[in-house]
Amino acid sequence: MKMKRIRRAPGGSAFPPRGSETDRARALRELDRVRAPLFAEMRELARDPSYRPEEPPHHACLHPKNQMRISPLEAEAIAEAFRTRPELRRKLPEIRKRLREELTRLEDTTRRQSFSCPLLEKKLCLVHGAAKPIGCLAWNPGREFSEVGWFAFARRDELNDALEPGWKLRVIPLWLARVLGEPLPRPPRRGPAGGPTPGR
Ligand code: SF4
Repeated sequence: MKMKRIRRAPGGSAFPPRGSETDRARALRELDRVRAPLFAEMRELARDPSYRPEEPPHHACLHPKNQMRISPLEAEAIAEAFRTRPELRRKLPEIRKRLREELTRLEDTTRRQSFSCPLLEKKLCLVHGAAKPIGCLAWNPGREFSEVGWFAFARRDELNDALEPGWKLRVIPLWLARVLGEPLPRPPRRGPAGGPTPGR
């Protein structure tokens, strides 16, 4: 299926990320490869009797704990999953409804903000096997990021750098809004001298 034409996303990185379709397709395949060891790590942890997080994993996907930010290439991976997986496309009306609700509570900024992820349904991540962001995969409650996790972040960043120098991380709903063509929320409020509002 033909990918969307590049357009400049308001306030930042282009979406889809720049680069030819071949470059982007290659980067998406490489992102998939980078995810594989993180799935293996997750399976290993699930078998480890000494690893019993206090809270169920989906709690980290909900407000106020969730502040996960993703890159343009990870957003493109989610967009690709919507384009190619009918079972995911069927979920779009509900995802859009949850997304719009979240967007009313967010500002269009690259900083961290709390949200409940619109991709969470009945305690499960809808993009788990298709396009799960690296941060979500690398995060294991109660543990530091592993070496495999840090490697995955570094590789993700390199892949984004190659396509779109100057790209920005944003919380998941802000990238989802760009992927799904939903109106973006307001930009951050400014203080009287034009600087950020104190405390931000
Ligand atoms: S993408 Fe999936 S794992 Fe990540 S915050 Fe959303 S529901 Fe949770």
